[in-house]
Amino acid sequence: MHLLGENLTKHNLFVPKKHYGVLFETFILAEAEDGLYIIDQHTAHERIRYEEVLRDLKSKAYKSQSLLTPIRLELTREEAEEMIEERHRFLELGITLEPFSGGTILIREVPSYIDPGKETETILDLWERFKQKDPEERELYDEMAKCVACRSAIKKGDQVSDPIIGELLQRLSYCENPSLCPHGRPTLIKLTRKDLETMFHRI
Ligand SMILES: [Zn+2]
Repeated sequence: MHLLGENLTKHNLFVPKKHYGVLFETFILAEAEDGLYIIDQHTAHERIRYEEVLRDLKSKAYKSQSLLTPIRLELTREEAEEMIEERHRFLELGITLEPFSGGTILIREVPSYIDPGKETETILDLWERFKQKDPEERELYDEMAKCVACRSAIKKGDQVSDPIIGELLQRLSYCENPSLCPHGRPTLIKLTRKDLETMFHRI
């Protein structure tokens, strides 16, 4: 987990005050000034990671590390050739690819925004998405941020400790768009005091 940067803009859409644990190992119950929030721990974390990675990519605020033992990608020969033709695009993401032999490609350098151990699946996932799009529609940073977010986010059913929930809610409140995950699914639903009062026929 990363701590909040100091110079992020505070958005007032969702400012957590307290939280009351997790329902069905998936939904965080949180209170804010304007109501009760039910937050999906996976999609919320995905939104947070997506915005963080996108910001890192745009401002080049990450490091590329060269691997002592390069990772081998075993592909078909055609696939490997296609990928090598696009290696400059990978380089823009901090990934250094090198042709080896036949269908084998070596990953020489990986960026710090990819979780260690997730390099191969993230890069292959990006490549799959990349191939499905027309060249002019390929939004490199956006696609990569989605691939990373999806993999590094807490899953539904994961046990999450209280302090981590608190931090997650804080970080969500700093997001530009806290209410949707990068794939367009909701991250939270809100019940206002008025909603509750209406439901209980108090008004
Ligand atoms: Zn999603």
